[in-house]
Amino acid sequence: MTDEPLKPLPCPFCGSGSEDLYCDGHYVHCEVCNTTGPSVYPVLDDDAAIAAWNRRVEPIGNSDELQSIIGMRIEELEELICELKNWRKFIRDDICIGIRV
Ligand SMILES: [Zn+2]
Repeated sequence: MTDEPLKPLPCPFCGSGSEDLYCDGHYVHCEVCNTTGPSVYPVLDDDAAIAAWNRRVEPIGNSDELQSIIGMRIEELEELICELKNWRKFIRDDICIGIRV
């Protein structure tokens, strides 16, 4: 059994394959889109850099789940906008009172 060198997965941003990727021991770089992988600095180890590059976040299940998450974030933002509008009104009132005094 031979230990084959670890190979980088295709670039997650442009899809370029290993022919367009190189490793300097700290990072994997994509020469097509200039993406640089996560650093393993101060370690100087191609396998560690490639393993970090190959680590991927699990994709979100389906579009319904994604739509639900986006909907919740929109509601949170709308609530924050309402709070900010209330604070803006309070600050304006405070400034007006300050001017009158
Ligand atoms: Zn790329």
